[in-house]
Amino acid sequence: MTSVPRGAEPVGRARDGGDPQDSLRDRWERVQSAIGDAARESGRSPESITTVVVTKFHPASLVRELADLGARDLGESRHQEARAKVAEVADPRLTWHFVGQIQSKKARQIAAYARVIHSLDRESILDALASAERTTECFLQLNLTDDPSRGGVAPDGLNALAERALATPGIRVLGIMAVAPLGDDPRRAFATVRAASERLQATAPDATFISAGMSGDFREAILEGATHLRIGTAITGNRPPAG
Ligand SMILES: *Cc1c(COP(=O)(O)O)cnc(C)c1O
Repeated sequence: MTSVPRGAEPVGRARDGGDPQDSLRDRWERVQSAIGDAARESGRSPESITTVVVTKFHPASLVRELADLGARDLGESRHQEARAKVAEVADPRLTWHFVGQIQSKKARQIAAYARVIHSLDRESILDALASAERTTECFLQLNLTDDPSRGGVAPDGLNALAERALATPGIRVLGIMAVAPLGDDPRRAFATVRAASERLQATAPDATFISAGMSGDFREAILEGATHLRIGTAITGNRPPAG
């Protein structure tokens, strides 16, 4: 990921938006069937895997189409855009996930619409969430690169963050989240995530979930135990320019 400028959105290693002639339904069904194949290959049931469709930069109308197709878990990575979109869609069937980097001073506002935060990576966010009105389910984001600007706690800080999170009221620790570094073998990156998940479970036995896998690498993530996929372009098509 080091070639991506700070603040740029991570993308899958293949910009796999598919054939632009495909419909949203085609892409949704193709991804569901690929998830099912990978789940069976790893001896798990497809129902044990949650697909979070990342809709950043896309309008509320696309979220409504996705909901009509059966999507229930939606993800966003920019707070202002997310807050406006969640309010516009206003669909109580949907669970919103926040997957982007978090400014501590916005954490409470994010928790007001996102039931799940995938990018908890430092104590100042915990402090902000402790005062939120409802319990926030969180993944601890692990940074697999040497670049702190990518977000995520460094591997040697994971246990300390986990202990603080477990001691914070209003936080439920679901497990670990990570983005595979561009240019690395994703299977190997996700094997590292799986090992970190096992270490985490020694202190947090309920933190069994793994958020890993994007458009270009969700198969490898599933084979290494991912329970939550964050998939954008493979389902939505290419993102429109940031607005
Ligand atoms: C945008 C984004 C995704 C989805 O990326 P795609 O390559 O479009 O599937 C997943 N995770 C995070 C953190 C993102 O910002």
